[in-house]
Amino acid sequence: MFATLSDRLTATFKNLRGKGRLSEADIDATAREIRIALLEADVALPVVKDFVAAVKERARGEEVSQALNPAQQIVKIVNEELVSILGGETRRLRYAKSGPTVIMLAGLQGAGKTTLAAKLALWLKEQGKTPLLVACDLQRPNAVNQLQVNGERAGVPVFAPEPGNGVGDPVGVARASIEEAKRKLHDVVIVDTAGRLGVDAEMMAQAAGIRDAVQPDEVLFVVDAMIGQDALTTAQAFLDGVGYDGVVLTKLDGDARGGAALSIRHVTGRPVMFASTGEKLTDFDVFHPDRMASRILD
Ligand code: GDP
Repeated sequence: MFATLSDRLTATFKNLRGKGRLSEADIDATAREIRIALLEADVALPVVKDFVAAVKERARGEEVSQALNPAQQIVKIVNEELVSILGGETRRLRYAKSGPTVIMLAGLQGAGKTTLAAKLALWLKEQGKTPLLVACDLQRPNAVNQLQVNGERAGVPVFAPEPGNGVGDPVGVARASIEEAKRKLHDVVIVDTAGRLGVDAEMMAQAAGIRDAVQPDEVLFVVDAMIGQDALTTAQAFLDGVGYDGVVLTKLDGDARGGAALSIRHVTGRPVMFASTGEKLTDFDVFHPDRMASRILD
């Protein structure tokens, strides 16, 4: 991901090498190049506009450093603006002050929620937590089984509906899972929910029902970074229908242009908290805006 954007930006910066100072025309030309690079990477138009305006303003401004030549200064500004649109600071998980921390996952079918649930559980376990995975995706025929298989791989127990334990009733399962977590002293509960192939009112209502039943400390919206601008439309629909505290970008290992990843924070106002980069349970990490920006400008 981001390969084309990286190449384009690098080429833009190359044009500035050797210049003693930047003329207004240089700044305009650079801003135009950056605009094209971002648009080609499928970054949302409002994000591109704000980004380019900020770079231009700062390049024209008084930020003249003796230590940096003009090309380096532009790289520095672009780097800082990338960090900024990616959310600035790393947003860490918030844990409940008492009782189990409840994390609910929401997103479309195929986004990578079930995989992500197990990845997150393994990551938490490695930090000494005792998570419980909860299978509330009763929509997709194989989802409960998939979570059980992944839970086993992660070495994390899975709370799944059994006959008489709320089969067909995801809200009931979710509610019962919190009791189970308290009984068995799990300190984190990860609730996987059902997605659909597209945005759907019933899915939203179900997710909202689960949210109300378990009162999550964190609702995470899981989204496939490969689906481009559709990710933003979906993100908005989930914001309106369920609401969430943070975003998880999946499939960052893919070769998509990366625009959704760059736009989602700015468009939703919610921080990207985690990134999923493959099918293995360990292909997962906390999302660091500064590291991502450096990767793009590498
Ligand atoms: P869900 O419907 O949202 O629960 O999605 P799944 O967890 O079942 O994932 C859908 C497909 O995407 C599966 O084949 C996963 O193996 C795959 N997948 C999930 N996360 C990633 C990722 O970060 N990278 C890649 N390449 N594949 C992923």
